[in-house]
Amino acid sequence: MTSLTTLDGYTCEICGGERFLPVTLDSYVMPTRSSNPAINDFVNHICDGCGVITPWPQPDIDRLAAHYNSAYRKDAYDIETETGLLRLPIQIPWSGVSFLRFKPFYDAVVRNRAAYPDLTPGPDDAMIDFGAYQGMFLHAAMQAWGCTGIAYDFNESGIEFARKALDMPDSRVAQDIYTDTFAQRARFAVLIHAFEHLQHPGRFLAHLRDNVLLPGGWLYIEVPNAFGFSLADPTHYFTYTQDSLAYLLTNNGFEVADIWIGNYPLLQDKPWSNPEQNIYALCRANPDVATAPLLAVNAAAVHRELRRSFRRHSLRYVIGRARHLAYHASRLPAHFLHFIRRDLFG
Ligand SMILES: [Zn+2]
Repeated sequence: MTSLTTLDGYTCEICGGERFLPVTLDSYVMPTRSSNPAINDFVNHICDGCGVITPWPQPDIDRLAAHYNSAYRKDAYDIETETGLLRLPIQIPWSGVSFLRFKPFYDAVVRNRAAYPDLTPGPDDAMIDFGAYQGMFLHAAMQAWGCTGIAYDFNESGIEFARKALDMPDSRVAQDIYTDTFAQRARFAVLIHAFEHLQHPGRFLAHLRDNVLLPGGWLYIEVPNAFGFSLADPTHYFTYTQDSLAYLLTNNGFEVADIWIGNYPLLQDKPWSNPEQNIYALCRANPDVATAPLLAVNAAAVHRELRRSFRRHSLRYVIGRARHLAYHASRLPAHFLHFIRRDLFG
């Protein structure tokens, strides 16, 4: 293993730390090298202060914008015509996954509502989804609680869909997430696999607390867990551990009510999908929350834990494939038997 290093004078956005440990391990189902070096070719580094993992160099904002604007995902449901592609307004299966991701939030509200009586949204409440894409998560929340949904995203066609098809007229296209405000302040904000894309998470949290949420408003976050997610996405700025996320939230005026590791929905056919894939946090704006003490993290220990976790996830996948093969092999004689008995002699 290599030793701690500095990154051209960069200080950690989360804790102000200046020393980082390069990630030197690799993994079959949790690759650690960039999946798209054209966007960003990097080496992951673990902050020795808080344990957060950041790529170095970090993504270039202009190159990211070009990627988001030009990114064209060829979809299995596209129809080619003489005048261009016909496309579905939703994406299969990802729009469904987005909808299902509401369930951990709903369960957390049920689990915590006795301790926090104002936690359940009602018909008078607005909920903003930062990075909503088409608003499928909000569509679930609106059905569950009758609240107002406001989708916020860079994707113009997604916002158009949320406005017209899902009855979210206040939805808006993102300009600058660090300064954009809404017609009224909301009591709920959610970020589902969006927070890890922010270069300045502390600045965003301060803006959210002071200009977007009502005093005492609630924030629900789902992000990749450093010990359960690939480190290859060239559009991520930070991959959090549970401790570094809690530290960041607390030191930016959010009282953490509940934070846990999990994964719903678990996608059985995806090598990288595992029960420890995500960190979930439920917290509320509270400017008086006590400052969290500096984390005493040892980056080498985080590196060892990464290796252990990633090996476990790869092994789990390989064993799963072996089980899959054994099951289908065991079914083969029955397939032949049915064919012979019914198609040849039936
Ligand atoms: Zn740090």
